[in-house]
Amino acid sequence: MRKVFVIGLDCAEPTLVFDQWRAHLPNLSRLMAGGTYGELTSTIPAITVPAWASMLSSRDPGQLGCYGFRNRADYTYENMTIATARMIKVDRVWDILSRLGKRVIVAAVPQTYPVRPVNGYMISCFLTPSTQSQYTYPAELKGEIEALIPGEYMVDVPQFRTDNKEHLLQQIYEMADQQHQVVKYLLSTKPWDFFMHVDMGVDRIHHGFWKFFDPRHPLYEPGNPYENAIRDYYIYLDGQIGEWLQWLDDDTVVLVVSDHGAKPMMGGIAFNEWLKQEGYLHLEYQPEGIVPLEKCEVDWDRTLAWGSGGYYARLFLNVKGREPNGIIDPADYERVRDELRDKIAAITDPQGVNLGSVAFKPEEIYQEVNGIAPDLIVYFGNLSWRSVGSLGLNRIHTFENDTGPDDANHAQEGLYILFDPKAHGQGPGPRRHVTDIAPTILELMGVPIPSGMQGQPFGP
Ligand SMILES: [Zn+2]
Repeated sequence: MRKVFVIGLDCAEPTLVFDQWRAHLPNLSRLMAGGTYGELTSTIPAITVPAWASMLSSRDPGQLGCYGFRNRADYTYENMTIATARMIKVDRVWDILSRLGKRVIVAAVPQTYPVRPVNGYMISCFLTPSTQSQYTYPAELKGEIEALIPGEYMVDVPQFRTDNKEHLLQQIYEMADQQHQVVKYLLSTKPWDFFMHVDMGVDRIHHGFWKFFDPRHPLYEPGNPYENAIRDYYIYLDGQIGEWLQWLDDDTVVLVVSDHGAKPMMGGIAFNEWLKQEGYLHLEYQPEGIVPLEKCEVDWDRTLAWGSGGYYARLFLNVKGREPNGIIDPADYERVRDELRDKIAAITDPQGVNLGSVAFKPEEIYQEVNGIAPDLIVYFGNLSWRSVGSLGLNRIHTFENDTGPDDANHAQEGLYILFDPKAHGQGPGPRRHVTDIAPTILELMGVPIPSGMQGQPFGP
């Protein structure tokens, strides 16, 4: 029976691995040459939460009822909940495998905090509040990790939106080193049939260092000292992956996956500022300086819509009978939503060139819409522009990020590499979808695919 070893690289960008830096990545290149690889389409929104949960459950964000890191808890204007593992009510592959007696190891996979029992071992993810929390299953594993790691085990890089690049780089490497120790320790001491680990450092280094290497970025300066920072980190990880691969036998299939890709961030659209200028959002008084919407006095009795910032935008309508001070008659809901969708599609860059922004209606892109979805999910300029939620900029386009320096946005296409030591791969393969990964893992392991999974399994 085959085993599966999944290497998750959060945010790994296919053009960098498959083309630009392939010659520098001997281990990933070997998996590509002997296996099948291609683009892996992310969820909408193309963001860590919910993309990994979607990948491992084969359900779309609407079915999961999880539309980002923060979700509306109810129809009030302020109550938001952080998406934890508790939000995921459906099985992920390790739940299914555990019930069938397969031994699993799940390490640092997003949305696994708080940990739940599995038939094996689990270490929770970057959303773990602190190492004071119980971040392992079983609880004793935490002691083993603490004995292994000198200093404190890092669940994430503490602050990746910083101008202190030297410190950030050092933290990213320290986290990678720690996780490398943990993976090697698990490989050498624990039995398993399914093993998955996710590295968050790729995402952190993309957001922190993208402008230093990509000539397309507006702030790129040739010859800067961090020109090779991201490339060197990929090379470093490739070396670690090479060590892990030495532990695997010929019955183990290797999958390398990313939850989304990355691209240069060309700027930000001040979404609430735009809604205000277009007459959809009204404030009691103008804020002084640049202020998040939550800290502004919104005149809800006159406000039709508000939005939130992030790599994508979420738009919420103020609907009569739904929101506390709702003013849009339910009979006008679709008309207002379509009007906003058209206006969003017409937004231009500072030179007046159309950005090609798209606003998605949840019910048009998901099989079900559970929980409280945004009324529109917006990609500005195919994710080349982010959404800025703050008010007080007095203009639509901004080149400063209100949550700290950030050079990259997410791209819709991540990557996959599937390598089976006993089968010849196709080399470059077709584009797959993140929801195809869970059924692929189950099929490789000879486990029936439960009905309700959205994706299709694929082979080497
Ligand atoms: Zn991610």
